[in-house]
Amino acid sequence: MTAKLLDGKALAEQIQQEIALEATAFRARTGVTPCLAAVLIGDDPASDVYVRNKRRDCERAGLTSQLHRHDGAMSEAELLALVERLNADAAVHGILVQLPLPRHINTARVLEAVDPLKDVDAFHPENVGRIVQGQPRFLPCTPYGVIELLRRNDVALAGAHAVILGRSDIVGKPLANMLVQRGLDATVTVCHSRTRYLPELTRLADVLIAAIGQPKFVTAAMVKPGAVVIDVGINRTDAGLVGDVDFSSVSEVALLITPVPGGVGPLTRAMLLKNTLTAAELQSQKR
Ligand code: NAP
Repeated sequence: MTAKLLDGKALAEQIQQEIALEATAFRARTGVTPCLAAVLIGDDPASDVYVRNKRRDCERAGLTSQLHRHDGAMSEAELLALVERLNADAAVHGILVQLPLPRHINTARVLEAVDPLKDVDAFHPENVGRIVQGQPRFLPCTPYGVIELLRRNDVALAGAHAVILGRSDIVGKPLANMLVQRGLDATVTVCHSRTRYLPELTRLADVLIAAIGQPKFVTAAMVKPGAVVIDVGINRTDAGLVGDVDFSSVSEVALLITPVPGGVGPLTRAMLLKNTLTAAELQSQKR
């Protein structure tokens, strides 16, 4: 292996410690402990693990958390009423509605019902618009984690060509909008399942970010020697968790590369804590 590993796990621990200090200072100043309310509907085992981990992270960083767990039969009206109660609850600073929701619930309607000041996932249209305009209130956790990973490892983004594989609302699109803003100044290409000449495009990338959910899709032949490769993908296979990047071959040509697990995933969780703290700060300014 020639590439240097970008250790997301270690960086996430460092960021969590920073947040713990900030939360202590915030509590000393305001008397308030930031609180994240997680809403979990149904019994999807993966969602269950995600929410449990997020709550454990909160505890470690000195934040509080609530779990609002309901069975999959909960109606959309009942869920909207729960979101309204959490919006009105001054003790709750961040609201996280764990996705996916059961099929009978309109996800967009629920996400839009979350108070934009408590929208720690940054999924509300108002917060998405603010990101596009370069005036973010919150940054969505996974793209935020990717940017922190690049920034804190001194990856030069200004003028660099960033190629993103995937155009989801959760990863690809917001990340493209963030990288292209003044201050970060990357030149961005976004690819998706209909993109032609994909390997030709990926080989132009100084920074290649894969977020497509296709195990080991990115091979060494698709990567420019010396590129920085960020693997957002999490794929459960018979051989265990793998990313969207064929780690063993790509690490022979890349300069820097993230592992899976231990890359972007832990940072996503750390940035949720950061957003919960930001939400508490925004609400303390409102009072
Ligand atoms: P998604 O909503 O399913 O979107 C996948 C995107 O990839 C779509 O834009 C799709 O194109 C594109 N795509 C699929 N196959 C492709 C191909 N062969 N070539 C080019 N583009 C292709 O997925 P997501 O929610 O963004 O998640 C992507 C991956 O990241 C998943 O493995 C997920 O588990 C992981 N993830 C990880 C974290 C983390 O914390 N590390 C957080 C979120 C997601 P179309 O739009 O044309 O369909």
